[in-house]
Amino acid sequence: MFLKIAHKKPECIGCMLCAEVAPEYWVMDEDGEAQLINVSREDKTFQYGEGLESDRKILKEAETGCPVNIIRVE
Ligand code: SF4
Repeated sequence: MFLKIAHKKPECIGCMLCAEVAPEYWVMDEDGEAQLINVSREDKTFQYGEGLESDRKILKEAETGCPVNIIRVE
């Protein structure tokens, strides 16, 4: 059972919180934006990925901690 992650990358302000709390899921790219490490699907606005149930806590921390509210985990 995987959690669904959606990340609205173009609106990232580069605070690095998600990459710090969940480094197996996000990395900062050369533009200073967080990038999902394992992207299963992508469109103009969102990157989509999957998270392990056992990582729910850190993924939720990234979701609730993102200052511009562009991470969804469900
Ligand atoms: S927490 Fe949000 S604003 Fe901060 S780096 Fe991650 S996606 Fe970007």
